Amino acid sequence: MADGIQPQPGIMEIALYQGGASHLDGVSNVLKLSSNENPLGPSDAAKEAVRRATHDLHRYPATDHARLRAAIAEVWGVDADRVFCGVGSGEVLKLLSDAYAGPGNEVVFTEHGFAMYPIYAHACGATPVVVPERERVVDVDAILAACTDNTRLVFIANPANPTGTMIGAGEVARLADGLPPQALLVLDGAYAEFVDGFDAGKSLVESRENVMMTRTFSKIYGLGGMRVGWGYGPQPVIDVLNRIRGPFNLSAPALAAAEAAVRDTEHTEKCRIDNARWREWMATALAELGVPSDTSTANFILARFADAEEANACDDHLRKAGIIVRRVAGYGLPHCLRITVGDESACRRVVHAVAQFKGAAG
Ligand SMILES: *Cc1c(COP(=O)(O)O)cnc(C)c1O
Repeated sequence: MADGIQPQPGIMEIALYQGGASHLDGVSNVLKLSSNENPLGPSDAAKEAVRRATHDLHRYPATDHARLRAAIAEVWGVDADRVFCGVGSGEVLKLLSDAYAGPGNEVVFTEHGFAMYPIYAHACGATPVVVPERERVVDVDAILAACTDNTRLVFIANPANPTGTMIGAGEVARLADGLPPQALLVLDGAYAEFVDGFDAGKSLVESRENVMMTRTFSKIYGLGGMRVGWGYGPQPVIDVLNRIRGPFNLSAPALAAAEAAVRDTEHTEKCRIDNARWREWMATALAELGVPSDTSTANFILARFADAEEANACDDHLRKAGIIVRRVAGYGLPHCLRITVGDESACRRVVHAVAQFKGAAG
């Protein structure tokens, strides 16, 4: 096989990403709480924009994403010239890896970090470097200690998935300031909109040259099916990303949906408030059943059980009740289950099922 057709180095190291399941054999009325999707769905304006876009499906979409970038700039107070739009924030993260890392380089992330980070690192031939956290919280000192002359990228999600925890602005700034000069800090803000008043790293992007922030339309905007994300970073980085992306990476319906969604700030606000309310309710109810979790800042909670055996048994019970949550053993958290915050009835249903499991239903 030595002379056969071979992929680039690193690619065969990749374990396929496991998405959240969405159906259960023989169960109707399945409740999917495994992919951090918005239970309220997207803004009506976004759905209407997609319908309108169907009139022009024979036309190529905008290559400069100008209207979407302008809308993002208006709503989030960022500079449109330094906004980059991708096919989900996943594409932005992937292009950053391809552009800035390769064989001999290191890509740093933490032990419970998002499962796509090692995939992007391997895909570009770089070496993934996994750094410990402190009690399910990103540890800035551990990341700084792991950096070398070969470090090119540092990925952290803030809030983090699957832990739901955050680090403060001072800690993020200390991380940016402590990195070696050739390393770019990537702040993955997939859950940033769930945190009231949070700037997700915008001011750091504007005051430093080594910080990039990414955001997505898949979570609070309820548009996971449309595949739109964006990044905000230093002009030289944005220019590099624009060179390597496909000219028509975003479809016209996706661009239209995202533009309408970001402008519907009333819907976004309702989603944030509802999420916080039912997240607190669910976390408290589960804690009373003996299932604690760290205070979550996102749209899911990481429920902790006595051990892996109990977590798996609870997951089996939930599945029999038609409820799908996320096992997170692959994230180094075998004793935990990640449960997306649904609407009121979803939260009540999952708490009821956990109560049955704990033998305390009533
Ligand atoms: C869901 C999620 C994303 C979003 O990915 P998209 O490609 O934008 O759908 C990015 N990062 C983290 C940590 C996530 O949980």
